[in-house]
Amino acid sequence: MSAPTPSARHNDIMEQVPCNLCGHTETTLRFPDTRQDNHLEGSWSAFCCTHPGYGVHPPIVQCAHCGLVYTNPRPRRDAILHNYEEVVDPLYLQERHARELTFQRHLRKFEAFTGPAAGRRLLDVGAYIGVFVEEANRTGWRATGIEPSTWAVEYARERGLDVVRGVLDDDLFEPASFDAITMWDVFEHLGDPMNELQRMYDLLRPGGWIAVHTMDIGSLFARMMGRRWPWLMEMHIYYFTSRTLAEIIRKAGFEVRTVRPEGRYLRLKYLTTRLRPYSTLLAGIVDDGARLTGLDRLAIPLNMGDLVTAYARKPEA
Ligand SMILES: [Zn+2]
Repeated sequence: MSAPTPSARHNDIMEQVPCNLCGHTETTLRFPDTRQDNHLEGSWSAFCCTHPGYGVHPPIVQCAHCGLVYTNPRPRRDAILHNYEEVVDPLYLQERHARELTFQRHLRKFEAFTGPAAGRRLLDVGAYIGVFVEEANRTGWRATGIEPSTWAVEYARERGLDVVRGVLDDDLFEPASFDAITMWDVFEHLGDPMNELQRMYDLLRPGGWIAVHTMDIGSLFARMMGRRWPWLMEMHIYYFTSRTLAEIIRKAGFEVRTVRPEGRYLRLKYLTTRLRPYSTLLAGIVDDGARLTGLDRLAIPLNMGDLVTAYARKPEA
């Protein structure tokens, strides 16, 4: 028997899905398929946090009923999860300082809703190498992380952090056992975000808070950039707007307090890798300049308005 062609192999792991927010199947095409036949299909490398595969993605559609934007067809849920289990991403470690600053800021804003940590329990979903878990411990939470990547979990555990390998569907925790649950840059990667929110709802005690941070495809910057918006990439399955994000969280039972833009710190070197697809020349000039001046390790705050955090709470019983 002959080996399957790349496109046949690809079709094996792809599936059509209904809208995760409203269940309808009627869509309009928002951004056409940009993958080439010889791209790295089924490879974990496209699913790394720091993978520079900008502009390469399957068809991205918009629900004709509720407006949710999502990749369709997209890799099957088990294929998505398998890719994250296999992720090895040493480049991420170089971004550690910038992530620490970002997470310290995220945490301060979250604690404005939750109140002081005071030894209460926090769960970080998709904890990766545990940077947020570590920051949360530092401000007084008893923080646990859950993460599918074997590599990332081993790294986190070597640092003495309570990060367990798995996903919420594995049922590893007692219902209503957490006071706060966070999800940073994870929601857009999930195969079934509605299911994930329902799991979070069950794990949270009444009155507990969640923070969900993701991209906003309805932001001015995203609309101005159109198909050149840098977050259009294969590893992103769902593209929420502030409105659809609030709606899906509400539908899972939470009271949404606010959805607002929140930026992050980026190392200058990392920023130039993002610039490179647009202008090799400009990226080169910034790179050289930064290296010569020793600024390439500098973390700079960046807020284009296209990353948002939703804060919501589970109603008191
Ligand atoms: Zn819909």
